[in-house]
Amino acid sequence: MKRVAVIEDNPDNRLLVRAILEDHYELTEFASGQEALDAMPADPPDVILLDISLPEMDGTEVLAMIRKNENLRDLPVVALTAHAMVGDRERFLAAGFDQYISKPILEPDKLVAVVAGLLAAGEA
Ligand SMILES: [Mg+2]
Repeated sequence: MKRVAVIEDNPDNRLLVRAILEDHYELTEFASGQEALDAMPADPPDVILLDISLPEMDGTEVLAMIRKNENLRDLPVVALTAHAMVGDRERFLAAGFDQYISKPILEPDKLVAVVAGLLAAGEA
């Protein structure tokens, strides 16, 4: 089973992502960017879902650290954000995220499709 890391400080959102994805993927949850950056290099997942609004280190900073880490830099990273504004998608993709999902997650199938699409792209 492919592995998805979820970096999200809101426990309700982590539960929701788990409920949507757990039949398809093995999930590892992190409540902060630092926690994830400490653990992931030794045991990298296949896809990372990364909240933007995180305490201490925000998602954009966490992404920068992921891209600097030789064990993590090539992994697909999906921005999860409640900051749904016009131009966000382009801004996050320009920042180096591979995909973008806005919260609240109202279309579970879309999250499943985004993760599956990134994994398929990685195997092509
Ligand atoms: Mg958050």
